[in-house]
Amino acid sequence: MKCTEFLRELSDYLDGKITEDLQAELDEHLHWCRECHVVVNTTKKTIEIYRDNQIYELPTPLRNRLHEAIMTKCRHSKETKKDI
Ligand SMILES: [Zn+2]
Repeated sequence: MKCTEFLRELSDYLDGKITEDLQAELDEHLHWCRECHVVVNTTKKTIEIYRDNQIYELPTPLRNRLHEAIMTKCRHSKETKKDI
């Protein structure tokens, strides 16, 4: 599974709306991918904060920002690999 695929499932993953198979795949990705691990932790924390304020939806700007950060990192590591 790639980071892009992981991110596509992220909100369903956090909502627990996915199948067991998919959940296993996402968990496996989290084991080796530090970046997505950080994203999940940050997102979970954010959700908790918003839950305290009775807002359940993850705000779209935040989601976009996380997505962009990951995309930039992925692109960057690809470019670095090419240079080697
Ligand atoms: Zn990842």
